Amino acid sequence: MRDLRSASRIRFDVAIVGGGIIGAGVARDAARRGLTVGLFEQSDFASGTTATSSRLIHGGLRYLASGDLRLVRLDLREREVLLTIAPHLVKALPFILPLPRNRALDRVKLRAGMYVYDALSFDKSLPRHRVLNDATLRRLEPGLDTARLAGAAMYYDAQVHSPERLTIENLIDAVEHGAIVLNYAEVVGPVFAGNRVAGLVIKDHLTGDEVEVRARLIVNASGPWLDRAAARLGQQHAPLLRTTKGVHVACQRFTEYAVAVESAVDGPLVFAIPWAGYTWVGTTDTDYTGDPAFASATADDVAYLVDSLAPHLPAVRRARRYWACAGVRALVHTSGSTSDVTRMHRVATDTPGLVSIVGGKLTGYRAIAEQVTDLVCHALDVRHNGTTTHAPLPGAMASDGTAGKLEDTYGARAALVRRLVDADPTLATPVVPGRPEIAAQVAFSTRHEWCVHLEDFMLRRSDLGFAPDRGLGASVAVSLWMQRELGWSEEHRRQELQAYHARARRDLLGFEPDLQATEAS
Ligand SMILES: Cc1cc2nc3c(=O)[nH]c(=O)nc-3n(C[C@H](O)[C@H](O)[C@H](O)COP(=O)(O)OP(=O)(O)OC[C@H]3O[C@@H](n4cnc5c(N)ncnc54)[C@H](O)[C@@H]3O)c2cc1C
Repeated sequence: MRDLRSASRIRFDVAIVGGGIIGAGVARDAARRGLTVGLFEQSDFASGTTATSSRLIHGGLRYLASGDLRLVRLDLREREVLLTIAPHLVKALPFILPLPRNRALDRVKLRAGMYVYDALSFDKSLPRHRVLNDATLRRLEPGLDTARLAGAAMYYDAQVHSPERLTIENLIDAVEHGAIVLNYAEVVGPVFAGNRVAGLVIKDHLTGDEVEVRARLIVNASGPWLDRAAARLGQQHAPLLRTTKGVHVACQRFTEYAVAVESAVDGPLVFAIPWAGYTWVGTTDTDYTGDPAFASATADDVAYLVDSLAPHLPAVRRARRYWACAGVRALVHTSGSTSDVTRMHRVATDTPGLVSIVGGKLTGYRAIAEQVTDLVCHALDVRHNGTTTHAPLPGAMASDGTAGKLEDTYGARAALVRRLVDADPTLATPVVPGRPEIAAQVAFSTRHEWCVHLEDFMLRRSDLGFAPDRGLGASVAVSLWMQRELGWSEEHRRQELQAYHARARRDLLGFEPDLQATEAS
């Protein structure tokens, strides 16, 4: 499946730097139009910002408030597209938006915003917003302190449980259309032809090999690493990005619905969203200039989120906090307050041979990929239109109608996982007693989904790492199944465990499971 050396013998039409959701989207679109595509990701696919988002597919009420109507409309249209092409991954999510009792003007603004949100999504399949009176609000969301409220609005957005799997499905489709995609393959330098970037030097972190690949065009889709990756490609320009850190906390469930409230600390909307059995609380928005790989949540970040929500949802103070994660937003470079910086992306083409994607939301990834692929096709004189508005993602294809946990994860591709069990019934074994994941999923991920490290399976191919202990308890069992699948030595297995435990402990908020007991069992 993995062959960097053979990639060096191909002259790609387009080589993509970065395998987050946007790079994966470009790979899929370009491959479906018949282009020869190579995608190179320094770490695991979707391990960057894509894995740390609020997981909302939304127009963004917050951006409505800042007057970004073009962005909101683009994303509301994309919300509808994703609900159609990825119904197994993207689901409708009702939100409660409380209306403040003593601030009549703000109440009017919020109500007006709801109408504009509905108007901008005139072509939607989701219900329009409605107003909830006090009694209904108390019944639906008993945890809300309604004393200072004059009812609430209920509106609909959508949620993607796993942007990580959305990325994998884009890559699977890209590969089914001829793309070559490699994780743990870092772009470390350019290959020049005259003053034009004509290829990439790639370092393979699994073998230590370094190879050169040639391409007619390079797409820099490295998200918050964009300026760093540009420098590695020999580009010297003022920063294109402003980067800000955003933190989420996985809390013991304390809400029934998704709730959006103005932060009691400084005003911007913050969310308490049902996700993976938690109330998923986020997010902060503070300038951050370090390497995005090392962004982490601080005690101040967590305190900000709790203080933002507590006057509205007092239970946030009592709810157990399991783990937190931090991600880095890539925003078009501008000054001013972080929450006012536009979330609209920009595509830069000033350097010969190079297309750079500056910013962009998860929600808009498909449209951004289409815009970039249109540009690429124009530059290469290829006349194929995009197909991704209508083409379902692989797991969305018609299934045999079986519904179960495997279908929740893989959609129609669950049948492929079951085939592994038919061939080897031991793979029906649950990875951990009491959890739905089975060993066949480990085998499937390593054979067909580029899963090479323990962390890849725990955090991005399955939900195991979303558990309250960040998957520490399940990690030993998974490492044994991966050892069997990938032929790891005992020493290698222990190193994988150590690396994963260090990663998980970085996120855990004082919750320590009894690992000794797990190791012994
Ligand atoms: C806190 C937070 C909440 C958010 N919530 C939402 C939300 O609810 N809805 C929404 O629509 N959007 C949301 N976003 C934005 C969204 O997550 C991002 O816009 C999106 O994930 C960006 O994807 P990407 O592919 O550009 O970046 P990334 O996912 O970061 O991918 C870039 C990839 O490039 C790789 N890379 C970097 N340098 C190199 C190199 N030299 N060689 C090879 N590979 C390289 C990185 O390893 C990385 O995997 C949120 C963002 C944050 C931070």
